[in-house]
Order: sequence, then C-alpha cells, then structure tokens
Amino acid sequence: MSLIDLYSDTKTVPTEAMRAAMAAAKVGDEQMDEDPTTRALCERVAMELGFEAAVFMPSGTMCNLVATLVHTRPGDELIADAQSHICTTEGAGAAAIAGVAINPVFTRDGIFTADECRAAIRAPSRTAPRSSMVSIEQTTNFSGGAVWPLDALRGVRDASLDAGLRTHMDGARLFNACVATGLTPKTYAEGWDSAWVDFSKGLGCPFGAVLCGDRDFIGEAWTWKYRLGGAMRQSGILAAAALYALDHHVARLAVDHANAALFIELLGETPYFVFDKTSPTTNVILFKLQGLPVDTATFTGRALERGVRLRALADGRMRATTHLGVTRDEMLTAVRILNDLAREFAANAA
Ligand SMILES: *Cc1c(COP(=O)(O)O)cnc(C)c1O
Repeated sequence: MSLIDLYSDTKTVPTEAMRAAMAAAKVGDEQMDEDPTTRALCERVAMELGFEAAVFMPSGTMCNLVATLVHTRPGDELIADAQSHICTTEGAGAAAIAGVAINPVFTRDGIFTADECRAAIRAPSRTAPRSSMVSIEQTTNFSGGAVWPLDALRGVRDASLDAGLRTHMDGARLFNACVATGLTPKTYAEGWDSAWVDFSKGLGCPFGAVLCGDRDFIGEAWTWKYRLGGAMRQSGILAAAALYALDHHVARLAVDHANAALFIELLGETPYFVFDKTSPTTNVILFKLQGLPVDTATFTGRALERGVRLRALADGRMRATTHLGVTRDEMLTAVRILNDLAREFAANAA
C-alpha cells in the first residue's frame, strides 16, 4: 500500500518531465551572475510579480530572513500574524540573526485589518522598539490556506507605508491564491517592497524560492544571501525545475483546490470532523475531531498505519495539504480510511 501523504505540499517529488528539464539546463556560476537559467528564472518571476529585480534563494525561510535583514536594524520590531511561518517555524531567525523582535497580531485566519495593523505599529519614542516592517502570508499556511482579499491586503500595505514601515509579502503559496481567485501575482504584489514565491511547495520542485524587490533591495539581499552561505554555483539545474513548474504546475493548482474541497465535503458525511473553513478553499485544510474518545496524536498515528499521513498541530487541530503527488482517487481513498477510522473509534466508545 502506498502512502497518501497529506502532511505537506513539500512532499511532492520532481516528475520525470521536470527531471528532464533539469538535466537539459544550461548552467554557469550563479554567484557571478553567469548562470543563464537562473537569470531567466529571476527575470521571469520579477516580471510576473511586477518588480524590478529578483534573486534565487535556496529556501523561503532564507527569503524571509534576508528581507528582514534588509528592511530592519537590530532592535526593531516586525509585525506579523501570530500563526505565521516567520513567527512560528523559522527558529526565531528574525531574533537570532537580524536582532528583530516580532510583534504578533492575533487573528482567526491569518488575515488582519488596516486598523489592527495601525494598532500594532508603535508611536516613535525613546523607549519603544521601532516598528519597521510588516510581513503577511498569501496564502496563510497554519491559518488554513486563507486568501487575503485584495482590499484587506492593500489596507495593511497602505497603513504600513503611511507609517514608514517596509512591507513584505511571504508568497510561499501566492500562486495558489491567484489560481483560486483569478487575480494575477502582480495585482497582489503591487506596491509591496518585497515579495517571494516558493517552488518547493505545490509547484513541485526539489527546492528554491525567488525573492523580488527593487534593484537596491535586491542588491542588499544579494549581500546577505552571500553572507548567509546561500550563494550557489550551477543553480540552473534547480532554476530549470522552477521554470518548468511555472509553465506546467501553476494552472493545475486548481486540481489541488478541488481535491481539498472534496475532502471537506466527503469527511463532512460523518459527524466526527469540524473544519476551519476559509473562502475560497485553497490546498490547506485545518480540522479537528469532535465527539470521539481519542486525541489527535493517536488518531493521526492510526491513520498513518492505514496509509494516510496527516499533520497533528500542537493545538489539537490537524492539517491536511493537497498537492500534485495526490490524485483525486487517492483523496477518495483517504476520506474513506479517515471516515472508517472515526466510525471505529465511535463504535468502540459506545
Ligand atoms: C514553507 C513556508 C515558508 C518557508 O519556505 P521553505 O522553502 O520551506 O524554507 C515560509 N512561509 C510560508 C507561509 C511557508 O508555507
């Protein structure tokens, strides 16, 4: 029995066609701007997101860290949602390396308003940390893949810019938002100081992310990338995978969204699952158990034994993520396994 891995959309593996594109890539020394495929990728992503320039990074985590290093000084404060990746999942890199504190905004689905943003921005004073950067996630990962509506996004952008803050968009899943709503990456990223997209999530590449900004920003980002050990050599092998993904794996994100909607609908046939629903549904699903005498760790452990891998979050919720490594039929199988398991726990309790 093969594993149906809904743990994360990082579980995708490169397809044969992607591997062929990688093998055929023209390469050079990236550190000296001599890798033609990496240059083509950076130009393409900068154009699609509407920025002057871009830099290829090994990971999204490094995009967030480097943007923080460029946008802030030690002792500054960064405003971000309390559940955001930069807050919860990056080893406190902002603090450890950039010397920056995070001022968390507490939200239901990772989306905050211009007023909440203004309330988080500190008035300049001798004693307060300097608020110098705001970071948002499009889509929101641990808040259930919610899509920031354009007006909320622009409200936060403008409130931040008015107060002199730099604005950063963690677009790990920006293309998921675009496919869900039909808006372009450029529309979402318009007016932001920096934004990036991840290729190692639903786009199915082995690794890599592209960080965008104006020429000055990218110049400084390059210095930090080099310092942090992120400069590469024949990175065209990876950039070729990313270019392949832009051509072949963006539109198909709609399949992942449909699979996620199907999962929510069919698991709803038993009364044992409650969903944190966001609208529109993208590829991240948050849910919890109800009315069963079992905790999520035990439930996810048993699901894994039967071939379905979910992610148990620390707060008792579970996360399922759809991606190109999981077909519609496999989603149907996963639903059947999870519903059966829940029914068995319920029967044992009775
Ligand atoms: C995965 C993720 C990151 C980090 O990206 P990596 O490429 O895994 O380092 C940052 N932000 C969000 C919202 C993510 O989902």
